[in-house]
Amino acid sequence: TQTLNIVGGGLAGSEAAWQAARAGAKVVLHEMRPATGTFAHQTGKLAEMVCSNSFRSDDDEQNAVGLLHWEMRQAGGLIMSMADAHRLPAGGALAVDREAFSAAVTEKLIHHPNITLQTTELKNLPGDGSWIIATGPLTSAPLGEALRAETGAEALAFFDAIAPIVYADSIDMEKAWFQSRYDKGETPQERTAYLNCPMDRDQYEAFIDALLAADKTEFHAGETAGYFNGCLPIEVMAERGRETLRHGPMKPVGLTNPHQPQVKPHAVVQLRRDNALGTLFNIVGFQTKMKYGAQAAVFKMIPGLENARFARLGGIHRNTFLNAPTLLDDRLRLKSRPNLRFAGQITGVEGYVESAAMGLLAGRLAVAEMQGRTLPPIPHVTATGALLHHITGGADAKSFQPMNVNFGLFPPVEGLRGGRRGRRDRYKAYTDRAKAAWLEWLAA
Ligand code: FAD
Repeated sequence: TQTLNIVGGGLAGSEAAWQAARAGAKVVLHEMRPATGTFAHQTGKLAEMVCSNSFRSDDDEQNAVGLLHWEMRQAGGLIMSMADAHRLPAGGALAVDREAFSAAVTEKLIHHPNITLQTTELKNLPGDGSWIIATGPLTSAPLGEALRAETGAEALAFFDAIAPIVYADSIDMEKAWFQSRYDKGETPQERTAYLNCPMDRDQYEAFIDALLAADKTEFHAGETAGYFNGCLPIEVMAERGRETLRHGPMKPVGLTNPHQPQVKPHAVVQLRRDNALGTLFNIVGFQTKMKYGAQAAVFKMIPGLENARFARLGGIHRNTFLNAPTLLDDRLRLKSRPNLRFAGQITGVEGYVESAAMGLLAGRLAVAEMQGRTLPPIPHVTATGALLHHITGGADAKSFQPMNVNFGLFPPVEGLRGGRRGRRDRYKAYTDRAKAAWLEWLAA
């Protein structure tokens, strides 16, 4: 029988190994720790949680990450069952005893008769055979270089520079307007690919003050700031001079505010469509190292974003990830070498849960392929499917940055009340629809 090789025993690789072994495949799991470490991992255990000990919300009716928990539990996921077994009290969140959790995942995997664990660092791309590469945001340098040689420098990043992403339906359209700078674009859709938020002088000055005063996070030791190429944090730009942003991402040229055509804005914040559905917009050039609490307060000062809801906040981190929309097919295979599948954070998802979910999928897809079965398409309306569709198709390849699961990635449910009051019903409708589709997919 054929062997499935999985590289990286993190959140994704551990789940992939479990799914594949349970389905009858022989698995070799290659993990470089403890022989070779990373700046963030502290142990030689599998599925180590490098920072927070939380898998976030466990609400499977009102929260997209809670729904992802539910889907993984239904699929017999190891990460979720060990998280449930080592759960700590944390309100609505699923927090765990991280040491007991990763020890338990390690025990389960090393005692599985179909799994062999090897301490190896993969340094080159493998030739033939079935492989899943799940080496995560801190993929070791030699493998990162080998991947970059395969994909081209443009398609593999070593840092993310994430601008905040806003739900389109939370933007105040009495203040904002659609327009591309100088009305550029071939199609009406391109000419309206941007949303603009105008500022007068006082609003701009107050915004700069808030940026300068906000709490920032520091890079971890060993994370080294290699980010100074075209993705300076917005607050660093502001520190270089109060006018820098007005001449950079906030320049007010080529735009006319239809709400006040006679008033020339002092500065303009632009948001760009972030997904094909048009439900998400990113704030252009607003990557930041501000702390999350500070970000929400500062960005809500932008006219039109007073009531904005954020699908994700901004950040800059050491993070190796592929430009999945161009490189991966909808079964997580590298188009140029379909015997290599990717899983976890390296596919351009963000977070422990999302990484594990892509591991679950990759494990199942790989085994099915080895056994000569074809799984039906993963339904877009599920949390797992929404994430998969986003990274392999829905996201804009040019501005691609890692993504958390959120309801903005789901095809809209029609015929429900909009706005704040309709939100609970809407989220319940999303999760009900997802659960039915996921059970159907698992059964097939
Ligand atoms: P990992 O869990 O990192 O697993 C990858 C594994 O591959 C590691 O065990 C590594 O040792 C191994 N490896 C790497 N290169 C090789 C190689 N060449 N050969 C063999 N093995 C190799 N997400 C959250 O949800 N909450 C957080 O609080 C959080 N904090 C983070 C903090 C930091 C510093 C970083 C870098 C990321 C953080 N993340 C967080 C993001 C992400 O969810 C986690 O990194 C998550 O562990 C990703 O899962 P993964 O399986 O893709 O990668």
